[in-house]
Amino acid sequence: MENIYTEKIKIGMSSCMYGARVRYNSKGWEMLGYLHRERSNYLWTPVCPEVMSGMGVPRSPIRLVGGNGEDFWIGNTKVKNREGRDVTSMMGKGALACYETLERAEVDAYIFMEGSPSCGVYRTTLKNKRLGKPPGVFGALLLNRGYFLIPAQDLQSPVKWWDWRRRLTAFVWLKRQKVTEVKDLYEIWHILKFLCQELDEKSARELGHRIGSFKKDIGEKVVAEVKDEILEILRKPSDVKRVKQWLWKNYIHLKKSKGISIEDVCPPEALRNMTHIAEEMIHVEIESRDKGLIFGSSPINYKPSR
Ligand code: SF4
Repeated sequence: MENIYTEKIKIGMSSCMYGARVRYNSKGWEMLGYLHRERSNYLWTPVCPEVMSGMGVPRSPIRLVGGNGEDFWIGNTKVKNREGRDVTSMMGKGALACYETLERAEVDAYIFMEGSPSCGVYRTTLKNKRLGKPPGVFGALLLNRGYFLIPAQDLQSPVKWWDWRRRLTAFVWLKRQKVTEVKDLYEIWHILKFLCQELDEKSARELGHRIGSFKKDIGEKVVAEVKDEILEILRKPSDVKRVKQWLWKNYIHLKKSKGISIEDVCPPEALRNMTHIAEEMIHVEIESRDKGLIFGSSPINYKPSR
């Protein structure tokens, strides 16, 4: 099993974060500029559920009444605009139209605007008072359908983007793997276990023990369920402290076992800026890739065929 992924990864994105001025107040931001040349490694599908609902630009801002986006899909939440008009049905249609677009485009991930009652998903960077009740209507739909979800604000931080990018690559690589037998799970786990331990140590240790105890004939259904559990771990939000600690742990492992040595990799307690940390991680990534080794923090190499 090769730890290389060569297809261009397809990513959906909140249109207002892609630069389209589609917010209720006709604003929009060009967040992909933060990725510089790396943006061309991906295929982008921008969508706006509120525009697709037929509410237009500019429009009255909307809010969820009675619950969050999860509650919306079981009929327990309404959507109203500032004037109190009920736009629940329009919102549902707009979200489903965008979902169908992403499915047609065969997208695996979505970059969302944090805090939006439509596209929002996780609470990560914004202050609580601006967050509303995540997830939003469209965010909840994508969360439940297993999309890999990235807050657009994290594109501004080289470390946070590196964190999402290495996991997205592993996520899409795993999704495409044909996993039918226990031996496939062993191989996958050998490649992804350190990354899974970093993201959710308790679940990963339990999963590791379970995979180790499997007999040959557990059946395709169980194998597929374990694959889904690994995918779920890979899309969990992380934090910079944890990323730094595991970078050091995995780097020391490579240094001791494979003789890799990179001068500018620092221990987690060393003070340095985000750009330096991102450069350290990219150095270890490149060095291990060139030597054909698995770097536990970023085990899948992405080499798009042009
Ligand atoms: S619905 Fe989503 S894409 Fe449209 S303006 Fe709001 S956050 Fe942006």
